[in-house]
Amino acid sequence: MTIIGIDLGTTNSVLSIYEGGKPVVIANAEGSRVTPSVVAYTDDGTLVGDLARRQCLVNPLGTIYSIKRFMGKRYDEIPEVERKSVPYETCDQLNGDLGVRINGKIYSPSEISAQILSKFKTCAEQFLGKPVTEAVITVPAYFNDAQRRATQVAGEIAGLKVRRIINEPTAAALAYGVDQDKEEKVAIYDFGGGTFDISILELGGGVIEVLATNGDAHLGGDDIDQAIADWLFDRFKAENNMDIRGDAMISQRIREAAEKAKMELSSMVTTEIYLPFLTADASGPKHLRANLSRAQLEAMMQPLVQHSLDCCKRAFEDAGLKPSDVAEVLLVGGSTRIPLVQAEVEKYFGRKPNHSLNPDEVVAIGAAIQGGVLSGEVNDIVLLDVTPLTLGVKANGGLMVPLIDRNTTIPVKKTKLFSTTVDNQESVTIDVYQGERQFAEENRFLGQFELSDIEKAPRAVPQIEVAFDIDANGVLRVSATNKKTNKHESLVLMGAGGLTDDEIRSAIADAEAARDADEKRKNLQVARNKAESLNLSNARMLREQSALADENLIKKTKDLLERADMTLNKDDASLEEFEALSSDLSACSCEWHELVYAKEKEERERAEAEQKAQQQAQQPQDPSANAESN
Ligand code: AMP
Repeated sequence: MTIIGIDLGTTNSVLSIYEGGKPVVIANAEGSRVTPSVVAYTDDGTLVGDLARRQCLVNPLGTIYSIKRFMGKRYDEIPEVERKSVPYETCDQLNGDLGVRINGKIYSPSEISAQILSKFKTCAEQFLGKPVTEAVITVPAYFNDAQRRATQVAGEIAGLKVRRIINEPTAAALAYGVDQDKEEKVAIYDFGGGTFDISILELGGGVIEVLATNGDAHLGGDDIDQAIADWLFDRFKAENNMDIRGDAMISQRIREAAEKAKMELSSMVTTEIYLPFLTADASGPKHLRANLSRAQLEAMMQPLVQHSLDCCKRAFEDAGLKPSDVAEVLLVGGSTRIPLVQAEVEKYFGRKPNHSLNPDEVVAIGAAIQGGVLSGEVNDIVLLDVTPLTLGVKANGGLMVPLIDRNTTIPVKKTKLFSTTVDNQESVTIDVYQGERQFAEENRFLGQFELSDIEKAPRAVPQIEVAFDIDANGVLRVSATNKKTNKHESLVLMGAGGLTDDEIRSAIADAEAARDADEKRKNLQVARNKAESLNLSNARMLREQSALADENLIKKTKDLLERADMTLNKDDASLEEFEALSSDLSACSCEWHELVYAKEKEERERAEAEQKAQQQAQQPQDPSANAESN
């Protein structure tokens, strides 16, 4: 059983599998190794990747970019300005979580991401020639529980059992460490499109151990694009006295131009941004033209890079190490191609960063290796990951009581005893939070449950054992047990990307139905193509070879061509109709081919006989033979 590896990125996604003793990146149906994480809902169905990106200017409201930023997020967790700045229709509430409204329907981010995963499932199946049902998917190390769960749900909707969620930098370390037999500490600086992660790892003896991780799930190349876009909007306003921020189509064009300029400035020192006919007013069309220099861009993005270095500082503090303790700094993520990022990283670590990994593919390759570990194909690697954020419960006075500290190696189970706060208290409520703040309410609320039927007793006497259990995917299960009665309750985790269990089931069924429908559409098209080509071949026979056929065959062919014409011009012709037509056309075509073959055979034999006769005629006469015959 092959377990595919997927880097489900904010900007781009990559598919890799472990095959023949090594990980390979699989190209998508369009032939690219990298698939833009763009999904478009159109009247004719859903498009993913380049196809979605190509049509976004004509369908900005139905085209979804960077959905990963919203995975597992509650509606009010995303600032209003960000909710409003999306180029597509609008963000909306989905059972308290954030959803995206497209053509009147609200989609959960998991459903949208599932479209990308589903495309990869099909690519892998076509590549391997067998069904694929299991995957390893990577997430930013800094993803919280709800974001991980939403990623798992996306996999489920796409028909993939998510065997393991691994952190992107850990995947990169796997890809780097798989061929290394050195014992060393490395840092992975992963600056992508939407997220930033720093991880410090120790490699040696086939063990890859994450020592500490830190980051920001909302810091990436998108923020740089946004800074350039804001600069362009301001400039346009200053020049034309017009605010064009609210227009989806214009925003899309400006963001695309901003990203293009940013990428050009990685290799050039200045670039020109030109957007003709951006809008118009009574005085005529308005264009936007601006020159942006690398120095200007660097000034805009300096605070973002500084923020990434602050995260690095915290990770080193947690690991009890200094930047000079690491032997290599590996760069991952598209935004590490920016010269300022490379220069600041070099300054902070005091050494040149290592560019040997392909920043676009290394994470997917690591995921495929982990897939190989899980399927038993790779057996000399052990991966020890950590939980990125502290997990705990709210105690008296609203304080956060940690059960599992951040950067604890997983899987892990920790327990703590709690009790009642008043005499004869009959139940306790367990509120679970994730985050680093002292007061629970300032952290992320993960869920709540109640343990009831506590025996009557003075306060602080009953013993309630709360257990936090994090599995290898980093997914948390919480339970509480009354030590006296053994009564037990556990937490039903929230944060499935706004979908209830029933809704997840129905989304899975919808996706399966869509896959079935796609399969049917494909089969119908294949059958139509076959009938069309047989039709053409019969028509050619009739045109070119009718001298060979008897009246019966000519009439039969004409009737059949008429029927084919009708069927092929019908919009609603069924698979069975095409198949029956193809079978008759094919039989008819065989009859013609037999005639043609017989004619050709006859001609060939005649030609051979003539050639033989000619050769004989040219042979010198044998006088003795003549004498004998005389
Ligand atoms: P990733 O999430 O790793 O696929 O990284 C995607 C991000 O990298 C996007 O924000 C891209 O705009 C950015 N990116 C890719 N290539 C370059 C480049 N040459 N210069 C600057 N940014 C880039």
